[in-house]
Amino acid sequence: MNLENVAAPRPDNSWSGIWSQQVEVLPQGEYAVAKIPVSDLAARFDTPLYILDIADARARARRWKKALDNVFADLAGGDVYYAGKAFLSKAFARWMWEDGLYIDATSAGELQIALAGGVPGERCALHGNNKSRAEITAALENNLAHIVVDSIAELELVNELAAAQKKIAPIYLRLTSGVHAGGHEFIATAHEDQKFGISIPSGASHLAIKRALELPYIRLQGLHSHIGSQILQLDGFRAAARILLAERAWAMAQGAEISEIDFGGGYGVRYTELDSIPPTPEEFTCALAAEVGAHIAETGLPAPRVSIEPGRSIIAPAVCTLYTVGTVKEVELADGIRRYISVDGGMSDNIRPALYAADYTAALVSRTSLAPLERARVVGKHCESGDIVVHDVALPADIKAGDLLAVPVTGAYGRAMASNYNMIPRPGVVGVRDGKAEMLIRRETVADLLALDLG
Ligand SMILES: *Cc1c(COP(=O)(O)O)cnc(C)c1O
Repeated sequence: MNLENVAAPRPDNSWSGIWSQQVEVLPQGEYAVAKIPVSDLAARFDTPLYILDIADARARARRWKKALDNVFADLAGGDVYYAGKAFLSKAFARWMWEDGLYIDATSAGELQIALAGGVPGERCALHGNNKSRAEITAALENNLAHIVVDSIAELELVNELAAAQKKIAPIYLRLTSGVHAGGHEFIATAHEDQKFGISIPSGASHLAIKRALELPYIRLQGLHSHIGSQILQLDGFRAAARILLAERAWAMAQGAEISEIDFGGGYGVRYTELDSIPPTPEEFTCALAAEVGAHIAETGLPAPRVSIEPGRSIIAPAVCTLYTVGTVKEVELADGIRRYISVDGGMSDNIRPALYAADYTAALVSRTSLAPLERARVVGKHCESGDIVVHDVALPADIKAGDLLAVPVTGAYGRAMASNYNMIPRPGVVGVRDGKAEMLIRRETVADLLALDLG
């Protein structure tokens, strides 16, 4: 029987900790976040509930910014774009901006949230492989820092819509280097069977760069590459950086003034105590700076301003999801018993276990238990056997209905990917800081669902 996945009862509060910095265990065994016991949060805001440790997320954002500023101080500096798709709310966008970051939006909706939060358009950028005319128009009207163009067809469209506004559109071209990374390894391939970007290995990027230089309402300001997500190693980033920098050198030889370069996001985090420790922001940015520095020394080209786009590594570890336990069942397996612990949420508030077989851990957070640990699976309340919250975790054998369970590291792609499957209203997001709780996104109600249904 495998009892390896045990959430450390005492949060270690480090960069790669499973629990956010303001999580602590109170003397009676209950957990608190930013000095608020989780049972208070459950009583006030109900469960399931996303608890966002505001100071933790902001410290992570500032750490990325500082790390980038430090390593590129002797080159041309750098900017951090928070990938809003990981999690976005008006207040959160504003905090990221106040902490010196820009906001990457991947849709008109994300852009509108950031703007409504008070982030100036100049501090936002627009992404997406199939942007609508309305989205590009909104980006131009709000004078976004740049639009990341994903195809030659889109280059023509941005040029047309910029002409209509008599504006020059600052753009990056999203290029694919053939390098893909995720988890522990990276692969480099010349043939890419995926929808994003314009391929460097196939030569398509040369055509796009030449076309960008011809179009009168386009200013080709940067080149961009994003190699994957949840990356725990440096070598994929380094390999992609070399390819992108070489492409910049080629573009500059054609007369392009490419003053910026963007290495994308994808910096990995730890989801369970069994995961390896990811590199820190200092290590990631140092690796990128080493490639840029070497390239500049070799080619004599001016240093580009460098941007990166972390999403997960800022918000994932800053949030945990609080659930109330309901039905507990013992299921007999060939090698023993597995306890199925049902909670009051599930795949509608965290699709990642079903979508990517992602691993999480869970802890009993409302009390101490002296009962032995037993193999458990935490499941949701949806009509789907794949509705799993935590595949395999050791939890006290006396967990019962009414106990509170928390699943850490749910800040990225949790609320952002939440659905109304089974007509379950999506949970709210409460921000906690210094003993105070403020609702950032309110819980949906069945009335919200009914309001969309026109009968
Ligand atoms: C998803 C994405 C990111 C953020 O990825 P994380 O894994 O959350 O850091 C950054 N840039 C682009 C282009 C993306 O698609």
